[in-house]
Amino acid sequence: MKSQSHVSTRKTHDVIVIGGGSAGYAAARTARDAGADVAIVDQGPLGGLCILRGCMPTKAILRSAEIAALIGRAKEFGLFPVSTNADLSAIVDRKDRLVREFADYRIQQLHDPKFTLYQSRAVFRSPREIAVGETILSSQSYILATGSRPDEVPIPGLAQAGYFTSDTILDLRTQPGSLIVLGGGSVALELGQFFARLGTKVTILQRGRTLLSEMDEDVGRALEGALIDEGIEVVTGVQLLRVNCDGRRKTVWAIQDGREQSYAGEEILQALGRRPNIEGLHLDLAEVTVDNGRIVVDGAMRTSQAHIYAVGDVNDVSPIVHLAIQQGEIAAYNATHSDRQAKELDHRLDAEVVFTDPQVAVVGRSESTCRAEGIPFLTASYPFAEHGKALCLGASHGFVKLLCAPTTGELLGAQIVGPEGGELIHELIAVMYYHGTAADLLRMPHYHPTLAEIVTYPAESIVEKLGIG
Ligand SMILES: Cc1cc2nc3c(=O)[nH]c(=O)nc-3n(C[C@H](O)[C@H](O)[C@H](O)COP(=O)(O)OP(=O)(O)OC[C@H]3O[C@@H](n4cnc5c(N)ncnc54)[C@H](O)[C@@H]3O)c2cc1C
Repeated sequence: MKSQSHVSTRKTHDVIVIGGGSAGYAAARTARDAGADVAIVDQGPLGGLCILRGCMPTKAILRSAEIAALIGRAKEFGLFPVSTNADLSAIVDRKDRLVREFADYRIQQLHDPKFTLYQSRAVFRSPREIAVGETILSSQSYILATGSRPDEVPIPGLAQAGYFTSDTILDLRTQPGSLIVLGGGSVALELGQFFARLGTKVTILQRGRTLLSEMDEDVGRALEGALIDEGIEVVTGVQLLRVNCDGRRKTVWAIQDGREQSYAGEEILQALGRRPNIEGLHLDLAEVTVDNGRIVVDGAMRTSQAHIYAVGDVNDVSPIVHLAIQQGEIAAYNATHSDRQAKELDHRLDAEVVFTDPQVAVVGRSESTCRAEGIPFLTASYPFAEHGKALCLGASHGFVKLLCAPTTGELLGAQIVGPEGGELIHELIAVMYYHGTAADLLRMPHYHPTLAEIVTYPAESIVEKLGIG
């Protein structure tokens, strides 16, 4: 029998971006603006994690929980109590409407006639060639931006018992009576508080000694206090052992304080982290170095192959959207300006916000990173419980903490646990951007009474410690 010969189409571009989420789109736009012939390859669904299953859907549903929590406190503000029964299905409908709107806009951007969009999976055939369906593409540069997915954790019995991840729980329309949350990071805490505020009994099981264990301990402890005050059970320092399922009840067994304990609930949310999406890309054929499931990149976002860059969640450097965008822009600049000095990632102003209530917002260095790197610092903090505007709002959990250089008072970092922390941190980011000092914060006018003026109190303490004005 004669074998049929297979003819593939071949095409060439200046820059090929694999993945059209936040990082990939930013890279494609930057390369296009530099005059390059750019192709984007995305297997779909188009829109990216931030819009479809990350930042935007979570923030949409959190707003419902925030309103429910305020209504639940009506009496405290001199109002007659009203029912706060939640309709999870209606909350999901509202979220879906918003997500559709955001996704449609992103899809429209990806169909920009100045790009070539291939809606297919990309597979490397060699360091210079990829297969996209029947088409073989080659390019001078590649920018990998394929994102991440929930990690699979080998806890005996978990898969058999069944569990949600942040990807799947966002579509749940029947509110569980109780929920065990595995993990104490931002995704675990935002979603855990969401369900608790709708009336689900929530237990958070965290391996670290504090919540948000990559941040300073006082940050995690302040948030823990606020969550416990709302009725959430927070268990830290646990070692997860196994899970079993008996009818409608799932039981998680763990060691805490040296003793075996069990925690039962109707559902489990597994929020123990995410892993880069590299399966199926054939990075071995691209000869790209992968270490422990992660693509190794330098400050210019280059992989071990100088013409292949990796940006966003896929490199696991900072899985946060504005940093993914920044990385995409740096990679695209470097890919299109080989004649100029390479741009590099600067971590000085790295910031993160956790949209719990109180919010957690950090920028720059923490006490623990200063200590680890031997960087001297002065610190001062001020509690929201002593801040007039926060008391008027009935939002007294948390504090603002500043870290400054001990000779100049230059702001090295800041941490906020408190109302609107995610908004307030931007003043401190701006001051740090311009290498401002605690004295600058004091001299800058702050309207009264605002939440923002709280930063002047720790700034005052730092200026007193420095003995300058
Ligand atoms: C629940 C949750 C809440 C979050 N909230 C926030 C927040 O409030 N603020 C914040 O800053 N960050 C938040 N994040 C993190 C943020 O969403 C991510 O850091 C960001 O979206 C990553 O963008 P990316 O471009 O790297 O990846 P993605 O947006 O995931 O894009 C990857 C793209 O690659 C495509 N792709 C994958 N493999 C292939 C392949 N082989 N071939 C072709 N295409 C492929 C996919 O289809 C996808 O479109 C949250 C994350 C989660 C999970």
